[in-house]
Amino acid sequence: YIYLKLYVLRILLIMSIKLYNTLSREIEEFKPIKRGLAKVYSCGPTVYNYAHIGNLRSFLCADLLQRVLRVVDGYNVTWVMNITDIDDKTIKSVNDYSAWKPEMGEMTGNIKENLKKFTQYYKEEFLNDIKKLGIEKKHFSEMPCATDYIEQMKGLIVKIGNNGFAYESQGSVYFNVGKWREADKYGKLKNIDFENFRSGERVDSDEYEREQVSDFVLWKAKKENEPSWELDFDGKTLVGRPGWHLECSSMEYEILGLPFDIHTGGVDLQFPHHEDEIAQSKAGYGVEPTNYWFHNEFLQVEGAKMSKSAGNFFTLRDLTQRGLDPIDIRFAMLSAHYRSKYNFTFADVEAAGKSRKRIQRYVFDLINNSDGHEYIDVTSFSEQFFKNLQNDLHTPKALGELFTFINNNSPYVVGKNSRMELLEFFEEFNEIFGILTFTVPDEDIPEEVVTLANKRLEAKKNKNFDLSDMLRIEIQNRGFLVKDTVDGYEIEKL
Ligand code: AMP
Ligand code: ZN
Repeated sequence: YIYLKLYVLRILLIMSIKLYNTLSREIEEFKPIKRGLAKVYSCGPTVYNYAHIGNLRSFLCADLLQRVLRVVDGYNVTWVMNITDIDDKTIKSVNDYSAWKPEMGEMTGNIKENLKKFTQYYKEEFLNDIKKLGIEKKHFSEMPCATDYIEQMKGLIVKIGNNGFAYESQGSVYFNVGKWREADKYGKLKNIDFENFRSGERVDSDEYEREQVSDFVLWKAKKENEPSWELDFDGKTLVGRPGWHLECSSMEYEILGLPFDIHTGGVDLQFPHHEDEIAQSKAGYGVEPTNYWFHNEFLQVEGAKMSKSAGNFFTLRDLTQRGLDPIDIRFAMLSAHYRSKYNFTFADVEAAGKSRKRIQRYVFDLINNSDGHEYIDVTSFSEQFFKNLQNDLHTPKALGELFTFINNNSPYVVGKNSRMELLEFFEEFNEIFGILTFTVPDEDIPEEVVTLANKRLEAKKNKNFDLSDMLRIEIQNRGFLVKDTVDGYEIEKL
């Protein structure tokens, strides 16, 4: 009944999410192309190494977006994230013997196979990382690898060529920016400095600066030891591989259809990657890729740009080895607004962990205590909380109000109906934040035993049976028996 009440209220208010759109440089009310459906494309990881926590922030921001669309606005979300398994970086790494790990298998004479083995390893590691961070596989519709769409990518290059916006030079194909500028604006997401621009000048690398704007590569001529395919273009057969920017344009069209609703990525992708995506889609398919461009700000470490040379470069495994819990990292990152720089510090994650435990404690207390009698206005609080999320995903405001609410309303005094409403609020909250459990731990089982049991479950999942046996004995020594179940384990007193 309460759920129905909330639902009806929400429809009456016609709550709808507002998002900052980089294209218009304004916060806009989100209007989907098809009623009730939001199609979202996220530029995914380049799988040449472990993702760093900056990359992971961008995927957490996209996860937050799709969850709010689904949970608060009731959209069906089709979420696609690509895996960049072929670009300058993956090719460079795969040919570097010292970058190979035993788990990848043997490097052979087959370059395409090598690329698959190498990138597959980092793709799996990426999937493990996002899982630990509470980004759930079931929320993705597809996670296409670029190498599975080479034929379609070739098709797009031919289309752009047929429309007169691509040309061949020395075995590569380039997008003709000078000509395109006569047809449409180039520089929609970021103003571009055309001062040094000279028509016909070309750039071959995937990454370049705004000041280096020139014709960019759609198809790159094969170099020694590079995987390659054949493209028929302008009466020639060109041996090579697609450029990075083209890959996303093609997969978006093939999987989501154009235009789709929201395109996500970090601010660094505004130029050239997303600018080039717009030009390619329009020049090839005649359509803009998306209606809303969503960009997250960067993560910094202790106020500085993350870089290997500065020694402040972290992957998720670095952080877990230093004792941080991935769920606290999730909560810390989600607590910052996605369009603000996030300053990563160990102290901040530890503080987020404390806040998370406070909310968790409150929820357990609510579940355990049924003696309270006071009426609490949960509805207005809950409406306000979700409104903040609908206001360009303003998590800091929403969480601020949650803590005020928790401080002002002791779980011991909340009366029966309010208590039920509040628990429903927390369930909905958790569908977005993904940090709570509703199974009250047996107080007789010490937390350290639960921690050991969790470690053992993790060890078993990683097929590290020696470690899992050791942990079972550790648990026994503390007077408990851990038993496996279909979805985890049970602990009993010995
Ligand atoms: P990549 O794996 O390099 O293709 O990047 C994956 C995503 O991470 C892209 O959306 C980037 O914009 C984003 N990204 C890279 N560095 C950072 C950072 N320091 N903070 C936030 N997002 C980042
Ligand atoms: Zn992309």
